[in-house]
Amino acid sequence: MSVLLSGPFAAADKALQAFLEQGAAGYEAHRNFDYGPDDRSNVSQLSKFISHRVLFEYDVAKRALARHQPDVIDKFIQEVFWRIYWKGWLEHRPAVWADYIAFDHDTIPTLCYQQAVTGKTGIDCFDYWSAELQNTNYLHNHARMWFASIWIFTLGLPWQAGARFFMQHLYDGDAASNTLGWRWVAGIQTAGKHYLARASNIAQFTNGRFAPQNLNETALPIASAKSYDIMPLDDHTNYQKKYNNLIVLENDLYLKNKKVYAAYDAVYVLRPDSVVRSVDIAGEVTDFKMGLILAFCEICPDAQIIDAAELQQIAASQTGLDIVYPSIGDNLDHLYRVRDNLGVALHLLKRPEDVFSWHYAKKGFFNFKKHIPDILSFLR
Ligand SMILES: Cc1cc2nc3c(=O)[nH]c(=O)nc-3n(C[C@H](O)[C@H](O)[C@H](O)COP(=O)(O)OP(=O)(O)OC[C@H]3O[C@@H](n4cnc5c(N)ncnc54)[C@H](O)[C@@H]3O)c2cc1C
Repeated sequence: MSVLLSGPFAAADKALQAFLEQGAAGYEAHRNFDYGPDDRSNVSQLSKFISHRVLFEYDVAKRALARHQPDVIDKFIQEVFWRIYWKGWLEHRPAVWADYIAFDHDTIPTLCYQQAVTGKTGIDCFDYWSAELQNTNYLHNHARMWFASIWIFTLGLPWQAGARFFMQHLYDGDAASNTLGWRWVAGIQTAGKHYLARASNIAQFTNGRFAPQNLNETALPIASAKSYDIMPLDDHTNYQKKYNNLIVLENDLYLKNKKVYAAYDAVYVLRPDSVVRSVDIAGEVTDFKMGLILAFCEICPDAQIIDAAELQQIAASQTGLDIVYPSIGDNLDHLYRVRDNLGVALHLLKRPEDVFSWHYAKKGFFNFKKHIPDILSFLR
């Protein structure tokens, strides 16, 4: 049964097609340039859809390869697989997420933080990106790297506070890509290897839009004594119905086949504004997520939107719930609290593509990258 697309699902599909036709061929050569919000023709801007699985990473890769020769599209596919890699890496180390959300934000230097989030630091590019993030809910990848680096090494603010600021405002806010992206810039993801923003690099890759002064270009990586054991993944690839009610979260709305959902007595989608999160997301981000959910419900008309109180009632009336696995992050934490409070069993439906891929994500991306052909073969 094929799925008829509408609303943001149709828009996402069109945006991917347009990128594959027009932007993809020049992606590798031009992707590092941030020309500003009026010209994003050199990147895909698909992350707000991919992060909610309105576009499914694996389908994106397949469509890219169907349209282009592998050598033309290789870099783009690698970037798409970064998200899968980050998720898999975090799945092996849940304590990294737990430690991040346990950070005590009362320890943040208030004045400096306020200057950063209101764009009043006096560093031209940084102040611009702070406003751009809040006005457009997007930043170019290079700008995210520069911004995070200036936040940590020039302003001396904790990376956790920056990660939280991003999660508040990004449409594509994603527990794994964001937390690990910030850790990577700080130099604790790859121990001792940090990312230092340099004024000359910013000037070059913004086409001279900025000339920041007084950046700390000699800072040392953030030291972290903590190491994390690799936890085995729960290996079952049983993407099969177990209980009668299915819960869907807004960060995995992929609908390959409506038949999967039709097998349930009820399909519920949890409102994003009723999830208890580690950070309150901005109103525009909630509205964006609600728009995606409403479009999902148009495609899947039997799905009902519920809030956290309704979820509690449903959970209290059932022995178990099937869950479209939302990966480590706030949605999963919320569900675990419901489970622990009410004793309801959760049957986590992990997508077979993820389970297969995540096994390669124990170490660095370089190692993961070698297995991309295996993953693509698995998809055939
Ligand atoms: C500090 C920091 C925080 C970040 N936080 C997030 C986040 O919360 N959510 C998020 O989706 N991405 C995050 N990223 C990754 C990346 O910046 C964005 O995915 C990318 O900029 C999205 O824009 P695009 O769709 O135009 O990307 P393109 O350059 O067109 O890339 C194509 C797709 O590949 C994926 N991708 C590209 N680069 C990365 C990457 N480094 N990590 C993971 N996936 C990638 C995205 O799905 C993207 O849509 C972060 C990066 C850094 C350095």
